[in-house]
Amino acid sequence: MRNLLAGNWKMNGLASSLAEIDMLKELTGSATCDIVVCPPFTLIEKAAEQVRGSHIAIGAQDCHSKPSGAFTSDISASMLCDVGARFVILGHSERRAVYHESNLTVARKAAAAHGAGLTSIICVGETRAERDDGVALDVVRRQLRGSLPATATGCNTALAYEPVWAIGTGLVPTLEQIDEIHQSLRHILVQELGEEGRAVRILYGGSVKSSNAASIFDVADVNGALVGGASLKASDFAEIISAAA
Ligand code: PEP
Repeated sequence: MRNLLAGNWKMNGLASSLAEIDMLKELTGSATCDIVVCPPFTLIEKAAEQVRGSHIAIGAQDCHSKPSGAFTSDISASMLCDVGARFVILGHSERRAVYHESNLTVARKAAAAHGAGLTSIICVGETRAERDDGVALDVVRRQLRGSLPATATGCNTALAYEPVWAIGTGLVPTLEQIDEIHQSLRHILVQELGEEGRAVRILYGGSVKSSNAASIFDVADVNGALVGGASLKASDFAEIISAAA
């Protein structure tokens, strides 16, 4: 299975930041993994034009569950496709925490994404308190079962395990903790999707940097990474990609 490396720019980036994508293209020309950059909505169309015909794909960071309608400010999955996006991150912990997105909302958005031809990157992850209470496995299992729509296949779905306490903090779980969660997620994917579940890529996300990437990618069921802060600079992201390629 090819590793998938996705960069989540979050609410960062102006038109001038698109130069980083040109640089990333040059730095990763020989990479043997799949690479996705998810800039804010405002940059998707230009970014997609920039990478056309290259080894890099563009993704979004959210979409609405409905194809169109009276949802002021929202963006549908088909609108994302229309401007060249191929992936969409869904259920990021910031969306779950700040906008109270439930598992059901995430599942509906993922179904809409699949219907429009996008690949969803569905995020799950426990908080610090849940990890300390010993319920991390229960939490991520519940999130995965609730967030996976009936439309999910090995091709149109990737999963990202992102412990909330590791995002943007510099803290990273031990390799054993990552291994335990990824194995459990794989088990559920196979229960839910049958053999298709083996083809779903499970990414690790949370303070991935060039110094820890190689050891994380060595964990058996880690099939790539969702990278926040370190994806903003092409040189940093390219170093992480080279550890996976
Ligand atoms: C993220 O926001 O998805 C993320 C993983 O952030 P960071 O890499 O900065 O921890």
